[in-house]
Amino acid sequence: MDDKEAGCGLKLNEVLMIGKAIRMPVAAKKLRIVSRIGLLAILALLTVSTASYASQQPILAFSARVAGDDARTRVVIDFEQKPEFVIHYVDSPERIIVDLSASAFGFPAADLAPRGLFKDIRYGTMGSDSARMVFTVNRPVKLVMAEVQKNEERGFRLVLDAEMTSKEQFAEILKSQDWNTSAAVPPQDVGPVVEDGVFTVAVDAGHGGIDAGASGATTKTPEKTVTLDFARLLAERLNKVEGVKAFLTREDDTFLSLSQRVTIARQKHADLFISLHADTLAQKDIRGATIYTLSDKASDRMAENLAVRENLSDQLAGFSIESGPPEVADILLDLTRRETQAFSVALADNVVKSFEGQVGLINNPHRQANFQVLRAPDIPSVLLEMGFLSNPEDEKLLLDEAWRARVAGLVANAVDRYRRRSVANGG
Ligand code: ZN
Repeated sequence: MDDKEAGCGLKLNEVLMIGKAIRMPVAAKKLRIVSRIGLLAILALLTVSTASYASQQPILAFSARVAGDDARTRVVIDFEQKPEFVIHYVDSPERIIVDLSASAFGFPAADLAPRGLFKDIRYGTMGSDSARMVFTVNRPVKLVMAEVQKNEERGFRLVLDAEMTSKEQFAEILKSQDWNTSAAVPPQDVGPVVEDGVFTVAVDAGHGGIDAGASGATTKTPEKTVTLDFARLLAERLNKVEGVKAFLTREDDTFLSLSQRVTIARQKHADLFISLHADTLAQKDIRGATIYTLSDKASDRMAENLAVRENLSDQLAGFSIESGPPEVADILLDLTRRETQAFSVALADNVVKSFEGQVGLINNPHRQANFQVLRAPDIPSVLLEMGFLSNPEDEKLLLDEAWRARVAGLVANAVDRYRRRSVANGG
């Protein structure tokens, strides 16, 4: 394998770009607006230039690749010369159409085998002066990037970055595009506007849908129900704190992959991510709450086993574990990650402090392991095991409304304390 390839079929500089596209905590909110304006300008130019691509010699597309997962997928196509392109979104079934100047597709079909968000990818000539690519999607998506970049060695590459989106947002994009003017639909952020000074918390109810998680020792209540009930309560409690806005990654009994949970948190500009669980252990006598933060190296065997089990969630639902591109040593990303990690640890400490003397904790209640769902490099994240469904006493508490309300209140207090400190530190 060419040593410039960094796995997943993407070249090293493409992987680095994905890293840089990730939101950096402080300055990023302004930057995003600037880049959106830049994109609109590019798209406006494209509209003008597409009129002139009639009767050209076809441009050779000499290689192509797809990478990513069911939350974010990138397609890259290399061309001998700079291609013109226009993007349209189409409904029933949901598709993205890329109209190109005359092109000859000279790469093996296997290189564009559908994966991630795309279930079908077709392409071909439309006439003497145009070609078309059609991407049929598994779920509503939007392109967060669509641009032509210059290759260092040969030609140009068309880069398309698709990200999962809601049905409502997809409908919004469909409505706002105009086929007659051939304007490529700008990947507008039609999501909630970032309100300054609002601290946003993603509350993630573990498991869901086909992935039921653990089940109660006595009542057999599935973990996915316990986590959703608690998540609702916690979000409600957090929304009562001034300056805090909480949302749920899933609001009902549906399956979300781990990568989708993280992507939803990023799309809604979360400042904090809290994943809720209530797993089982082989040792039935172990009980109490645990707070986990991310670490490549687990703090202990129990934490390691738990992370392995949680990371299997995607496989359970028939998804292969193919997370996004591998991380590459990138100084900016590395600094962000380290800063985020420090914040995650601070939050975990706050939760432990809130719980002490109020809620049962296991020995060494702050532990570390490699949980996929905690991998957002730019959002401080913790995983809270509220207790163990394998322990009958814990199970009783987990199903007790009054206990849940009290614990939700304590977590909300911890978040509020954490937020006040991070605001005071200018973070
Ligand atoms: Zn779990």
